[in-house]
Amino acid sequence: MSEKKWSTMGLFIIWFLIVPTGIIYLLQTQMPESINPVYLMFFIIFGVLTVLFPIKRNGKPVSIVMWVTLPAFLMYGIAIEMIVMQLSILAAFFVMKRNEKNLHRLFLNSILMFLLSMAAAGAFFVVGGKIGSADFWTLFIGVAVYRLVHTSTNIGLMNTYFELRKAKSPFTTKDVVFEYSTLILILPLALTFYLMLKMVGIGSFLLIGFPFFMTISIIRLYGRSEKINEYIKRAGRIGSELSVMTDEESVTTQFIIKTSELFKADYVFLFTNHDQWLELEKRYERRRFINLPFQTVQIGEGIAGKVLEMKEPVIYSKRKDWEQYATVSTLEELESVLCIPLTHNNKTNGILLLGSNRRAAFGDHQLKILDLLGSYYIVSLEKARYVQEALQRSERCALTNLYNYRYLEEKLHEEMDRMNMGDIDDLSVVMLDIDHFKKVNDTFGHQSGNDILYGLARILEKALPDNGTIGRYGGEEFVYLLPGYSKEEAVGFAEQLRLLIRQHIFTIIPDLGEDKYPVKVSITSSVGVASAPTDTDEAMNLLRNADRALYIGAKQAGRDRVAEYVR
Ligand code: GH3
Ligand code: MG
Ligand code: MG
Repeated sequence: MSEKKWSTMGLFIIWFLIVPTGIIYLLQTQMPESINPVYLMFFIIFGVLTVLFPIKRNGKPVSIVMWVTLPAFLMYGIAIEMIVMQLSILAAFFVMKRNEKNLHRLFLNSILMFLLSMAAAGAFFVVGGKIGSADFWTLFIGVAVYRLVHTSTNIGLMNTYFELRKAKSPFTTKDVVFEYSTLILILPLALTFYLMLKMVGIGSFLLIGFPFFMTISIIRLYGRSEKINEYIKRAGRIGSELSVMTDEESVTTQFIIKTSELFKADYVFLFTNHDQWLELEKRYERRRFINLPFQTVQIGEGIAGKVLEMKEPVIYSKRKDWEQYATVSTLEELESVLCIPLTHNNKTNGILLLGSNRRAAFGDHQLKILDLLGSYYIVSLEKARYVQEALQRSERCALTNLYNYRYLEEKLHEEMDRMNMGDIDDLSVVMLDIDHFKKVNDTFGHQSGNDILYGLARILEKALPDNGTIGRYGGEEFVYLLPGYSKEEAVGFAEQLRLLIRQHIFTIIPDLGEDKYPVKVSITSSVGVASAPTDTDEAMNLLRNADRALYIGAKQAGRDRVAEYVR
């Protein structure tokens, strides 16, 4: 047996010795002379209903079950009060997820309530309260003291419990004040109920029960719409955060993190749609992304596959509802599932699955809000993709996919600034022009010339040192920016590059004439090198110097060579 199981067993024994034994003892010693079984039944029903439909303040249930247990106490004494109270707690446990943790909680709660009832009843008798009394002021004082002692003992015991476990108490001062102030509600309600039972009898259950539960449902409805409003507000905020992101990966990770926070989901699975199958793209578990091997789900298979097939979202409240056809059954604690198709313009881009270890964690309104968030996500993703593509287009040359002159010049200014600020010591520019390229075009055709330019671009890219930049500066001219390269190092690099190019054999299929057979072609290049701060400390001058070295030093001197700039 696990440690947890042992401690639950221990707790069960303590509970058994205190609660059932205590109640039996109290029943034998304090048994009222007569009990109306119908009254008792109604007390229990009302108690159970009050606990099952709690009203919450800041997410914590407000303890008002005393409006039922107190009249039961005033009528029949402590033993009956305890039975009503304990059955109400038990009912709450049965609608919850019945696991080890909640069982533990049930025993603790039950013991706590037993002790509180004892303390409160004791105080009631001390101030002169009497069971079955009809004297208003005795009752008034007795009930007030009962509730106050109940509350203060409760807070005291809770604080001691959290101190012993070295945990921070979840009750703020505001909560404590609120807890005490509920007296204003409980006192008149319980007293009215009790006195009415004495005067009117059984009809009081209807007279007071009906308005009470009506009020509770109105408060709960109001609370729900407040919650939905809050959800919508937060979803809107998430949507606007996503919409300004320009990188697809960040859009996706942020979407998952924020969604899991908003819906308190323990798991998030994101699948991308490939029509007949889904690819699991992201898996987020307990606030961490899990690294995934390539994983697929067929259409119709598992929860996500079914959602893809039906194009309809699903909500499950507990494990039993989905277990038979799910593929995520390895997640032992998973209970609630909310799974939606991510659709935009009638196209399903993917499937999103949220999971929670709590039961009934997701409802209809969560589904609607998730749907809304899902469309924010898809639109943001498309926008990020578009921005990236536009950026790519504006920075790159379409033929070679190398950076274009605009980017090169911007980058050159940046690197020069870095040098002038002392981040790097040197900055060299290597400019390269293919020799007699016009002849290649004339012999093999313009398309073949393009193929050679593309092939050369791959060679140049491969030779690019770390931190360097390579771009196509013009027709068949290419430029390297080499931060940290002295003139000597840059000349060395240029010489290697020249040899690399002249050794390479390009295979092209000429597009002139009838013959469409592959032809082997080699080319040579002329290269100019200039450096900063040796030659200049101004960006465009550096480029001009490299150009001049290229034309005067290399081309005019016979081509197929490297020349450095000389003043
Ligand atoms: P050299 O540089 O050795 O003086 O001779 P060259 O024949 O290479 O002369 P130049 O640099 O003046 O001419 C560049 C030629 O490159 C002109 C043009 O036919 C060709 N060219 C420029 N851009 C492209 C292009 O995008 N595709 C193709 N196929 N050819 C291009
Ligand atoms: Mg040329
Ligand atoms: Mg040229």
